[in-house]
This record gives sequence, C-alpha cells and structure tokens, in this order.
Amino acid sequence: MTGTTNAFEMAQRQFDHVAELLQLDPQVREILRWPMREYHFRIPVRMDDGTIRVFQGFRVQHNDARGPCKGGIRFHPAETIDTVRALATWMTWKCAVVDLPLGGGKGGVIVDPATLSEGEKERLARGYIQQIWRNIGPRQDVPAPDVGTNPQMMGWMMDEYSKLVGQYTPGVITGKPVGGGGSLGRTEATGFGVIYTVREALKHLNLEPSQCVAAIQGFGNVAQYAAVGFTEILGGKVVCVSYWDREDRTAYTVSKADGIDPRFLMSITDQYGTIDKNKARAAGYSIEDGNAWLSKEADVLIPAALEGQINADTVQHIHERVKLIAEGANGPTTPEADEAIRQRGIFLIPDFLCNAGGVTVSYFESVQNDMNFYWTKEEVLQRLDTKMTQAFHAVLDLSLKEGVFMRDAAYMVAINRVVKAMELRGWI
Ligand code: GLU
Repeated sequence: MTGTTNAFEMAQRQFDHVAELLQLDPQVREILRWPMREYHFRIPVRMDDGTIRVFQGFRVQHNDARGPCKGGIRFHPAETIDTVRALATWMTWKCAVVDLPLGGGKGGVIVDPATLSEGEKERLARGYIQQIWRNIGPRQDVPAPDVGTNPQMMGWMMDEYSKLVGQYTPGVITGKPVGGGGSLGRTEATGFGVIYTVREALKHLNLEPSQCVAAIQGFGNVAQYAAVGFTEILGGKVVCVSYWDREDRTAYTVSKADGIDPRFLMSITDQYGTIDKNKARAAGYSIEDGNAWLSKEADVLIPAALEGQINADTVQHIHERVKLIAEGANGPTTPEADEAIRQRGIFLIPDFLCNAGGVTVSYFESVQNDMNFYWTKEEVLQRLDTKMTQAFHAVLDLSLKEGVFMRDAAYMVAINRVVKAMELRGWI
C-alpha cells in the first residue's frame, strides 16, 4: 500500500495543513499537535480457566481547554498508541465543531473481545477502570463506547468507578444501558447523526434523497443505524453494507441491487457486527469481496468501519456516479485519497463533523445524569438533529466563504474554538 496509513501521522498532517492556512502561532501548533497526557497500563485479568492474562491498555487526553476530555474506549486486536492518539485528537475537533463544552480523549485495549467470555469481558472492563480511575471523572475525562465495546461494558465500568470513589457517579462514563443511567437514542445517535448531515448535504447538492442510492462500508453500530436512517428517514436505497467475518478472517460486502433491508440484516448479525452469510444468501443477498462496496454505482458512499479504508490504492475504484462521501468512521480517508477526492470534486462530509452524533448524545446523557432527569427519545433525537444541522451549516458556510474543502473548513471552525478557549484560560 502506498501513502500514509499511520492514523496519528494522518491526524497531524491534517492539522498541520490547516494550521498553515490559519497561520497559527508555532507555539500553539506545538500544543495542539500532541496529546497533553497519555496513560499506558497493564491490566491483569483472571481467565475462566484460572490463568492470568495481562492486557495492554491506554488512555490519551489530547486537550481539555473547552471542558473535560471525552471519547470512547476501543477493544481491538490491532490497537496501538498511535491509533489512540489520533482518535483522541479527532475527539477534540469533533467536540469543538459541534460546540460541545468538552475536550478530546480516547482509550484502547489490545484485545479481540470476541475471544473473551462474558465474565472475562466484565473483569477486563473493571480492570481497565481499576488502572485509570484516578485520572478520569465527570469533570476530568469521560469515556464511552467505541469499536469492540458496548453499553453493558460501560455499565460495568461505571459501577467499578462508583465503588472505587464511594458514590454513585453515572456521569463518569456515557453510552450506558438505558435503565442504568443511559440515554434513550444513544444507540441510534451516531448513525442518525450521519444521516442528518447527509440530508443537509443532499439539499445543498440539489439531490432528492428518495432517488439516491448509498453504499455503506461496515455493519457495526454506526453503519447499522446509518443504513436504517438512509432508508427510513430519507427514503433512499442502500445497495450494500460490508462486515468482517471472524471465522473466515476476511471482509465481505453483502449486497442487493434492489435495496437491502437493514433491520433484517441486523436480525442475522451478532454483537460484533458479523452477518450470518448463509442466512443472507438464503434471503437473496449476494456475498462479494470486502472492497466491493467502494466501487458500487451509488450517489453516496458511507465508510463506517475503520481508519484508512479509502487510500491511494482504493480511491481510484470509486464509481463516477458518486457525488457525496459521508465519513461515518473516524479517519477513513488518507491524505492521498483526500487529494484525489478533492480533484474529482466529490462533496465530502468530514468524519469529525459527520459522526459527531454519538458524542453529542453522550453529552446529552451526562447532562441528564447531572440533573437526574431523563428525556424522551423524541426529545433527544430532535436536539441531536438541531445540533448536527447547525454544525453542518456553520462548516458549509465557511467552506463556501473561504473557498476551502469541507474538511479544512471543519478544522478551521474547530481549531479556532479550541484556540479561543486556550486564550481565554490564559494558556497562550
Ligand atoms: N466513540 C464515539 C466517537 O468516536 C463516541 C464518543 C463519545 O460518546 O464520547 O465519537
């Protein structure tokens, strides 16, 4: 593969490019190019067979000028300190672009959660908190779910933290289960947030959503609700999703030319996003190669899996019909691919704007925790729609005014807000 694939290098390159456009002071760049704090720790876990396994964990706090750090914890076998650094950095920009009073952080553990029993997962989740509880908290740093973690794990983590500090502290973590301090609408939040920004972008491009076709990469939490939203909220057609098949250790695209039924596919998908391909085939779906989603004849591409998926090698396979790329994943496009997309004139909704719905409802969750008063699902989704729509238009307006690509405009809005907070606090 050619070009940049290290996610943190990508995050720094994107930042450097906009820092130059904004003519940011070199000392300010020095602060923002790197995380403020990083924690590396080992988590011993008693396995079901009685042995002890030691897992490597990280928590990175990139910047807290605007408020407590915020961002998920990933359980992934290919996790590295650099992926966590990149994701923490993107969280700073994500919270700032949707104007949440929060900073950026991210956590990770090197583990494949599908290889653990429920009991082992619980002990790992609690073990993570035992190592980091002194450095997180509702006013310090608030974790949440991400790839490989789920609401149940957040519930265990919140419980462990509450026991360690000696009081019920739901606001230490978001994405908790509903009924256990969680917010209604949090499960749908990231995917629906993607769709609210897609709806606004289609308006801007003068395209009628019900006539549009989308191809989606992934079938985890974000992709599932992006698919539901594209069909049920916008009335459009989704022709494929993709997933990682754990048994075959390979990715597949699951497609149907007359449109997939996301809710049916969700009913045959396990908790790790693996679709039962035999059941899909029996229902008339085609199972294609993992990259097939990218070359589909579609108006909208929604990468909603992992980093670096649209890169120098794959970008050339994007179909000429594609008019919009909505980045549901964090960091799906490498700088080389980004350049090719700019040149082709494809409109792009950048990741930290497009997928900010999750952290937005996480913020609503912590507000509800603080008040100990819970909103209806309609109220949550209405407020989410308002936030996403406002943020999308603030970025679009700047992009049109300055004549810059959407990603650069999103960075400009976010960086300016963070720099302003640093100034107001007397850091710079
Ligand atoms: N992990 C999600 C993200 O990347 C959500 C973070 C949060 O809710 O704090 O945006």
